[in-house]
Amino acid sequence: MEALFAWYEQHGRDFSWRHTDDPWAILVSEVMSQQTQIDRVAGRYGSFLARFPTPRAMASARPADVLAEWSGLGYNRRALNLQAAARAVVESGWPHTSSGLGALPGVGPYTAAAVACFAFGEQVPAIDTNLKRVLSRWVGRALTGSELSEQAVAMVPSGQAARWNSAVMDLGALICKPVPRCEGCPVSDSCADPTIYAPPPRQAGFDGSLRQTRGAIVKLMLDGRPRTANQVAAAIRHQPDRVETALSALVREGILESVDLGYVVVGAAPSAR
Ligand code: SF4
Repeated sequence: MEALFAWYEQHGRDFSWRHTDDPWAILVSEVMSQQTQIDRVAGRYGSFLARFPTPRAMASARPADVLAEWSGLGYNRRALNLQAAARAVVESGWPHTSSGLGALPGVGPYTAAAVACFAFGEQVPAIDTNLKRVLSRWVGRALTGSELSEQAVAMVPSGQAARWNSAVMDLGALICKPVPRCEGCPVSDSCADPTIYAPPPRQAGFDGSLRQTRGAIVKLMLDGRPRTANQVAAAIRHQPDRVETALSALVREGILESVDLGYVVVGAAPSAR
């Protein structure tokens, strides 16, 4: 463990959210980091937090403004979930445990554990794909489900969960990648089986994907103007059937709403319709 911590002190990544115990700042960083590359998160995090520095600031914002500030980070549903979580916190206060935080909208077990640990000092592992891969290699077999949780809980050094989570995260991101760089690893002496490979879920290609169409639609609609499906398809020059599918999904997810004149981003000012 000391070798891991020594490596982390020297090589760990320095993110601004690692210098705070503000649960809101930490929650924003964790939600942004889901499915978005960390470098892109780091470039947008400061301005997003400046715009919405507290749960109250986000709770009272128009959803269209939240989506506009989120623009470019992808998976827009996360932004609206974050706003729903902010509203729950404004109404009922912060839960201080991972189980309480896990009940907030859009907050899964990993994010709940990370916020509980980094903001409230709960001594829990934050289990994500990286941690699963690293621990599996340490132990020497592919860990899943309850065995993964039990092993992770047993490994967290008493009183040092935050440091341990950050160190293992960084080891997984920088050294113990899917194809590991064992020659530079600080814990290679105690690693049981570097050949165990737990690949992360594959993401479909972006070009030509429904995800690309959804992103283009949200970007277009942020001006608050209502548009029909045909108008959207013409404006973004994507296939009409893919646009129809994406519009339906965005309505189902509460990002757009259906109005007399077509579709509009949720929460757009009535004067814009
Ligand atoms: S020795 Fe290799 S496989 Fe084992 S923890 Fe280090 S980088 Fe990962």
